[in-house]
Amino acid sequence: MSSGKVIGIDLGTTNSCVAIIENGQPLVIPNSEGGRTTPSVVAFAADGELYVGEVAKRQALTNPRNTIYASKRFIGRRYDEVCHEAELVPFSVKEDRLGRAVLEAEGRDFAPQEIASMILQKMRQTAEDYYGCEITKAVLTVPAYFNDTQRQATKDAGRIAGIEVLRIINEPTAAALAYGLGKKQDARIAVFDLGGGTFDISILHVGEGVFEVLATNGDSHLGGEDFDARIIHWIIQEFQRQTGVDLREDRMAFQRIKEAAEKAKCDLSTSQQTPVTIPFITVTADGPQHLQMSLNQARLEQLVDDLIERTRRPCEQALEDAGLRPQDIDEVLLVGGQTRMLAVQEMVRKVFGAEPKRGVNPDEVVAIGAAIQGGVMAGEVDRMVLLDVIPHTLGVETDGGLCTPLIKRNTTIPTSRSEIFSTAADGLSAVDVKVLQGESKLASDNKLIGHFQLTGIRKAPRGVPQIEVAFDMDTNGILNVSAKDLNTGKEQAIRIETTSGLSEDELLRMEDDAQQASSDGLARKRLMESRNRAERAIFDARKLLDFSGNSLSDEYREKIVRAVGSTETALRSDDAFAIREAADELAEVRKNIGQ
Ligand code: AMP
Repeated sequence: MSSGKVIGIDLGTTNSCVAIIENGQPLVIPNSEGGRTTPSVVAFAADGELYVGEVAKRQALTNPRNTIYASKRFIGRRYDEVCHEAELVPFSVKEDRLGRAVLEAEGRDFAPQEIASMILQKMRQTAEDYYGCEITKAVLTVPAYFNDTQRQATKDAGRIAGIEVLRIINEPTAAALAYGLGKKQDARIAVFDLGGGTFDISILHVGEGVFEVLATNGDSHLGGEDFDARIIHWIIQEFQRQTGVDLREDRMAFQRIKEAAEKAKCDLSTSQQTPVTIPFITVTADGPQHLQMSLNQARLEQLVDDLIERTRRPCEQALEDAGLRPQDIDEVLLVGGQTRMLAVQEMVRKVFGAEPKRGVNPDEVVAIGAAIQGGVMAGEVDRMVLLDVIPHTLGVETDGGLCTPLIKRNTTIPTSRSEIFSTAADGLSAVDVKVLQGESKLASDNKLIGHFQLTGIRKAPRGVPQIEVAFDMDTNGILNVSAKDLNTGKEQAIRIETTSGLSEDELLRMEDDAQQASSDGLARKRLMESRNRAERAIFDARKLLDFSGNSLSDEYREKIVRAVGSTETALRSDDAFAIREAADELAEVRKNIGQ
């Protein structure tokens, strides 16, 4: 049975979280392992099983090459944009023939969208297990600073997972929604969101159910994982200094160091100093080697000083874009696990001159905000109006390699703008339109997010054809482009070919694969259940024979022995149905005898 419920999913770099509105209040749904957040980790185990979440994270140590984490860093990105980040992870990140980043596991290449879809499926399953019915609708969140391609890629991940993505909202805006629920204040708030892989800063005006984003900025290459990388580097260097052994190429050791580094970082948010110990990290001619060192807050701050400093400029820019000074901000909200670090909070204090707040749990607040938006869409929460903005300027390349902006950054969405273009040479019947994103006047300094060809233009001298190109930015922050030849009135629907997105054919194939994997997974689960049932029935029957066999008539004993034999035969097959039938029959025989 499918329900009209809408879930909110925070698809995080490190952890994901799912929430829903119940009786008008947001509720974080715990997963099957009991966690309120789920590690965004997908593992392909040697036994062919696919693990997502806690179990995947737990087995990472022994299966580092086939355990994919931080996939959000690669979603909607070209390989050349992320190749330096690929060095931070033990699995293989490659370039496909179109230059897109793909992730390799178990000898197969996966688009980051496919990996994200597996995490989304786990979150959806979490909600379905809780409610006992099918849930197909969701609101997803993305970093505010995600560009068009990354947003589209996240939406595609939802589609592959069989989820109808009703809306995509920005993580800091979601946090503000969660924070502002039920409050009727009129305030300007800044949301400082430093998660596992991205940094966002949003300045909002909140009043009477209206959440208006005034400006947003950030860095989609900055997060807790970068902090971990610095500590990992330091540990490896220290160990080499102490023992002369270089652990860089040892993937298993790397994985253990990564875990120890993150743990040390988290410990140092509450203590001054922490030991970093990993027994039996490697073996040399001198025997087993143990890693033993100590890290203190001051050293950690030195290691990540420039990373924290990188949050300053986006904050200043966002304030400037919002036309506000630090003292105009009434409250600063901290979101994202990395904001627990004291030095990060100190930076927030320095920039805004105010004590930051963490009114709501920073790990759950984004999913809660997404659930609230879902509740608004499902009619379960009083109307709240969300006015978000676009994070980057969008334009097209024009003559001389220049960029003509059509929609400026921090424009409220949805929005649309159109501009008339013409041909640059005589007699052209087609023009190539390049869609750019970025703040530079030079096209080459901006990011090419897509291009399309307008064909069928009536041939005319240069500058005569009048082609109206319209940019339409929807509430999800996703760009749609249309073009009209004003001379002929002919309109062309254009599908932007993004340089790092998926084609319709690829999406269809991935949807099929996901469905197949999900039914394969279901079949495997059924087989395992049947096997367990059969083994239990055999155990019970044997126990009966051992303890009460003498008091049974020959006929009954024979019946039981025969049923045990058929169940054992069924168990040798992979036929879940036959195994279950044999197990049920054995249980029935045993029950009759008991009576
Ligand atoms: P999020 O994406 O919000 O789940 O943030 C995850 C990031 O927060 C990871 O890089 C974590 O290592 C980091 N994190 C979680 N708890 C702490 C803590 N107590 N101190 C410092 N960083 C933390």
